[in-house]
Parts: sequence; C-alpha cells; structure tokens
Amino acid sequence: MKAFFKQLYGNSSPIRERLFRIICSMASVACIFAFVMASIFGESLLATFPLLVAIVMLAIMVYVSYKKHLYEGSSIIIIVLMNMFFFPLSFFTSGGVNSGIAVWFVLGIVFVFMLSSGKLFYILLFTSLVTFVACYFVGFFYPELIIPLGDRATVFSDSAVTMLIVAITIGVIIRFQTRVYEDQHALSEQQKKQIEELSNARSRFFANMSHEIRTPINTIVGLNEMTLRSEELTDDIKENSLYIQSASKSLLSLVNDILDLSKMEAGSMKIIEGVYSPARLMREVINMTRVNAHQKNLEFNISITEKLPVSLNGDEMRIKQILLNLLSNAVKYTDKGSVTLRVTVEYPENARDEKDKMILTVQVTDTGIGIKKEDLKELFNNFVRFDANRNKGIQGTGLGLAISKQLSELMGGSITVDSVYKSGSTFTLTLPQEVIDGTETGDFAMAAKLDGSDENRYTKLFTAPDAQILVVDDNRMNRIVVQKLLRATKVHVDLADSGKEALNLIKQKRYD
Ligand code: ADP
Repeated sequence: MKAFFKQLYGNSSPIRERLFRIICSMASVACIFAFVMASIFGESLLATFPLLVAIVMLAIMVYVSYKKHLYEGSSIIIIVLMNMFFFPLSFFTSGGVNSGIAVWFVLGIVFVFMLSSGKLFYILLFTSLVTFVACYFVGFFYPELIIPLGDRATVFSDSAVTMLIVAITIGVIIRFQTRVYEDQHALSEQQKKQIEELSNARSRFFANMSHEIRTPINTIVGLNEMTLRSEELTDDIKENSLYIQSASKSLLSLVNDILDLSKMEAGSMKIIEGVYSPARLMREVINMTRVNAHQKNLEFNISITEKLPVSLNGDEMRIKQILLNLLSNAVKYTDKGSVTLRVTVEYPENARDEKDKMILTVQVTDTGIGIKKEDLKELFNNFVRFDANRNKGIQGTGLGLAISKQLSELMGGSITVDSVYKSGSTFTLTLPQEVIDGTETGDFAMAAKLDGSDENRYTKLFTAPDAQILVVDDNRMNRIVVQKLLRATKVHVDLADSGKEALNLIKQKRYD
C-alpha cells in the first residue's frame, strides 16, 4: 500500500502530474465525504447523484494519469465536467444559494488556477466564472427551477459540511504543493552542489594533467635546444630540429592555455606583480612578432610613445601573454597589408606623484579578414572560432582571446575590439600600471635593435666558471635539461631532487 502511494505521489513523476493526482484524490475524498453527509441528512437522490458521478470520474482520471500519464487532457476534462456540469447541476438540485454550493464554486475556480496554464487557463477561468454567475442569475429570475434542500437544519448542515470539506481540501492541496516545491528546491540545490563539485574536480584534473604534460614537453624543448646549439649540424638535422622546436612550442602554448582556463574556472588564477621594464617587454614581443610577420610578407609598423616610463609595477608575464596573443592573431588572420603596434600612456588627471597609476594603452591593428558585427559579441567566449572554412589552415583553439580578456580584467584593465569585416581589426588593451620610475624611455630606437639577428642561432652571453648553481627539481629529466643547457656557461651545477636535500646542500655550500 505504501509502495503504491509512493508510486502515485512520489518523486518519480513530473511535478505537475503529481499535483494533478493529489488534487483529484483530495477532490474525490471530499465528494465521498459530502455524499455520505448528504445521505445522512436525507438529501434527495437528485441532490446526491452528481456527487456520485464526480467520485467515479475523479477516480478514473487518477487512474488514467497514473497509467497513461495523460494528466493534461485529464485536467481539462475534470475542470469542464466539474465547473460546467456537476456544480451547476448541484446548484439547481440542492437548494441554490441556500446551500454550500458557493464554496464548491470556489473550489472549482481554485482547480482552474492549479491545473491549467497558458491560453487554456484564461479560457477555462472565463467560462467557469460565466457559468457560475449564470447560475446565480437564472436562480434569481427563475426560482422555480431550484429544488430546495428541505428544512433549515439541512440547509445549515449542508453549508457547514461543504465549508469544512472544501477548506480542508484546499489546505491539504496547498500543503502538498509547498512540500513538493520544497523537495524540488532541495533536490536542485543538491544537484547544483554536485555540478559544482564535478566542475571543480574537472578543473583540478585539467590543472594537474596540464602540469604533468608540460614537464615532458619542457624536456623535449630543452634537449632539442641542445641539438640546435651544436656547431656541426647538417642542414637536414637543423631543419628537423627547428620543426621539433616549433611543434613543441605550439603544444606548450596549447597546454598553457588549458591550464590557464582551468585556473580561471577554479578561480585560482593569480596576478603576480613585480617591477619590470616596459621597453624591454615591448622589444621581446616585437622581436617574436616580427619574425612571423616577415614570413607572411606583412609590414610591421611600430609606434611607441617616448613617454613610456622606464619601470612599472605589474605582471610582466601576463601582459606579455596578452600582447603576444593579440599580435599573433593579427598576423595569423591577415594575408596582406600590415600589422601595427601602437603604445601610448596617459596619466589620470588627479595623478600627484609617481606612485600613482598610469594607464598603459596598447593597440594592435591589422588589415586582415576582420570580424562580422554579429560575431563580435561572442569573440571573447571560450573555444569560439569564426569562419571555419576560411581559416582551415590556421591553428588555434579559440581560447587565446577569452584568456586575454579575463587576464586583463584581473589586472583591472580591459580589452575592446573594433572590426570591419574583410577590412581589418583593432584590438585595444588598456591597463592601469603603477609607475616605479617615471623617467621617459625616449626614442624607442627599435629599428637598430631589431634588425639582422638570426633568431635561430644560439649566442652564449657569458661564461662563469666560478659560479655555483643549485638546481632543485623532483623530475630527473628537468634537472638534466638545466644542467645541459648551462654547460656552455661553464658554471658549476649541483643537483637536488627535493627541498629537503636542497636545504642540506645550502648548509654545506654557498650558492650564487
Ligand atoms: P584562436 O586564434 O586560437 O582561434 P582566439 O581566442 O585568439 O583563438 O581568437 C578567437 C577567434 O577570433 C579566432 O578563431 C578568429 O576567428 C577571431 N579573431 C581573433 N583575432 C582576430 C583578428 N585579428 N582578425 C580576425 N579575426 C580574429
């Protein structure tokens, strides 16, 4: 029996269906009770007959909804039968206004509100109200059509019993409805928590995986670098090594993007500020972009304000990441014409001393494929890439801009875009930066520093045979790579595979 009730009213059915069943069940209990009371008080068969039919109908409807899940159609049938047939019939066979019928009418209207929705609700509400009001009118003008209930005691008892039945019915329905909504709310809260936990676990997984993948890639990049440094390379080996270098860099940047994304999703992305030289930063990104622009025969214009301060405080690495992303996109999505980098600075009007924030604005303009107006609003979403057909050969994940935008916002700045489809785009990065040394850098004199260097040739900057370096890493390959890369500098390298071992070593020896 308990199992039967659970199946009938429990969580397994949709909420509206459960509500329908409970309303019908309560209505049939009410009708049974009313029928029994009417019989006890000796009301005529004509007065009790509609109740009997209603009980049977309601039972059939609960059964149909249970077996066939046709509760929507059943709801309409119930409302139409009750409000257009049984209640008006009762009105005329059970004493009209001198009975409890008005309260049944109220129950009929409550059913309309609870069981119907949309256009149908308005239709059913209107027809029910018209029917009930029509009963009153007809009853008033043609009193002879109403069969009286009998003596005063019957009238009073009918009214009282109806009032009690309907009040309890409505009360139970409301209580049940509240319970159902509370259950539903608890369930959705629980599901929300599960989804959050799942998402956190996923982010942690990606963060760990990306970290694990980066380690071997670094080994590949490092050891390949050793090959490239070798003096006796055949052209073929050098070419292969350069391909390995390029492929590993792509892989590394892909993994880094995924790692950044998962950090951002987990809310653990941190901005690490430090003092840096903006001129040096610009020089690095320009050097890297210049090679790519050159390969595609694109003009690369640079305009950097002489007012650029000598040193700023900010997250140099992240700013570089954003700039490289904007510049590499500009080159990637431009086939002919130019890419222009424009850097300006602006001091807010209330800036009093050098510690005040300065606004650094970097604009990257290209004469490339541009972005359609309707695509612009999705541009900064994760994994968004446009014009799949046209960009078939262009590598990318659609993560760069999403990450750049979030990074700029974490640093208190923003990225905006202006684009004309098929003509080109301008991306503008605006960042507030603290000024450490406000001396102007002056003429950027980029040209001299940019020309003529062979990107691929390793040049040893120094040797330091007396230097003592301690390399600490739990990954053996990482230690080997650092040791090998430093070999040409002749520095003395000690290796430690744990923090504990490193602490032991620094007690015995002074490291540089
Ligand atoms: P990716 O370049 O890896 O696909 P991004 O997030 O950097 O990812 O860019 C998302 C998309 O925005 C690109 O796939 C491209 O369709 C479009 N896009 C970005 N920069 C430009 C640009 N300078 N010109 C035209 N389209 C661009």
